[in-house]
Amino acid sequence: MGKAVYPGSFDPVTNGHLDIIRRASALFDEVTVCVMVNHAKHCIFSPEERMALIAASVAGLDNVRVDSYDGLLMAYARQKGMDAVVKGLRSGRDFEFENTMDFYNKRIAPEIETVYLMAEHTYVHVSSSGVRELMAFQGDISGLVPDQVVRAIAKKQQEVVL
Ligand code: ADP
Repeated sequence: MGKAVYPGSFDPVTNGHLDIIRRASALFDEVTVCVMVNHAKHCIFSPEERMALIAASVAGLDNVRVDSYDGLLMAYARQKGMDAVVKGLRSGRDFEFENTMDFYNKRIAPEIETVYLMAEHTYVHVSSSGVRELMAFQGDISGLVPDQVVRAIAKKQQEVVL
């Protein structure tokens, strides 16, 4: 089914994201997970750190690549010859946001379809912002993010404390 891009902030990548990546990798010949650089958003991890955490988490998936982009998603998708964009839907809130986003994306690149995958029920409440909030209070994030991310976060917290 061609090439797809799965965009997001991934600050950090969660098991919810990973579930979408796995399912997309079964649907498409090639999936690129693209860290979208958003200067207006304050991120905990740098784009390079976020890419490294994603790369470590998708190590077993041969048709998954990791990239980053500082610009408009549809410009990236067109430039890279993507057939589709993949998004995950957790709730009505995600739907409302994506519905409007699709309206504008279609104006920019009507030839590129967006495919929405329903969030796995176990991860419906998992978000990067929720994980960041738990991190701030030294809460337990195991099971919410890949093990590599649990370790990287523990290391980062130590650095901040030192
Ligand atoms: P978040 O919304 O958690 O800050 P991103 O902006 O990085 O994360 O999200 C990137 C994409 O992944 C979006 O399409 C978002 O709807 C989807 N997504 C985020 N968390 C989940 C989850 N737990 N399950 C399924 N899809 C998700």
